Amino acid sequence: MFKIGCHLSASKGFLHMGEEIVSLGGNTFQYFSRNPRGGSVKALDMEDIEAFRAFAEENDIPCVLCHAPYTLNPCSKDEKTRDFAFRAMTEDLERMDLLPGNMYNFHPGSHVGQGTETGIGLIVELLNRVLRENLKTTVLLETMAGKGSEVGSRFEEIAQIIEKTDMGDKLGVCLDTCHVFDAGYDIVGDLDGVVSEFDRIIGLDRLKAIHLNDSKNPFESHKDRHEKIGEGSIGLEAVERIINHPALKELPFYLETPNELPGYKKEIELLKGLSK
Ligand code: FE
Ligand code: FE
Ligand code: ZN
Repeated sequence: MFKIGCHLSASKGFLHMGEEIVSLGGNTFQYFSRNPRGGSVKALDMEDIEAFRAFAEENDIPCVLCHAPYTLNPCSKDEKTRDFAFRAMTEDLERMDLLPGNMYNFHPGSHVGQGTETGIGLIVELLNRVLRENLKTTVLLETMAGKGSEVGSRFEEIAQIIEKTDMGDKLGVCLDTCHVFDAGYDIVGDLDGVVSEFDRIIGLDRLKAIHLNDSKNPFESHKDRHEKIGEGSIGLEAVERIINHPALKELPFYLETPNELPGYKKEIELLKGLSK
């Protein structure tokens, strides 16, 4: 089954997101665990969770992806910021225990001048505090564009984080097509090469989700500005190869393109038409 969806607003709850994605023609969605910029979180509505679980089963929604807030920086220089990352992630994952078997994605963070090694050390430190044996969620590291001092724009960095984390078996990877292209992985000219490099360095068994975005900027620009599908420097032909690649086609794909709901609906329709 082709698993396709987009980023949705969580403000009206899970059942609403479920109904929304079905109305857009999709079967999975991503949402922010809390306001992406701010920190607070509203109480979970158990009735809504139960209603969503039933709805997801009836409508063949196989999984959902929760995205941590952008303000979460596990490798900040500032202890307060790192403490927020710890508290937010711990709380987000506790809440996700109510929807077992899903995925939680976060940005490895920006080391802000401390260097990649120190940054990786701080990320591992956080994960060692947050991950626990009875976790019901797979925690995904997102591949980054390498803007500023971002950690995670090289597969080697992601691999090191996974290797050094005590409970690394709880970790997976979400590959963002705009980010890897901006980071210098040529998914347009040599998709097979990038997939084998991912396999050699991280392992394809770790790849759990794809953020499907075109890029406003050229190859290796380290910029991270998403574009609508087929309207950027990645282009529709490359996107078609990505969604049909034997190593990728079974993964869930999430659009984070600059669209309102009607635009997402069109892109989902287009991608379903291209999926073989
Ligand atoms: Fe992201
Ligand atoms: Fe992304
Ligand atoms: Zn991005």
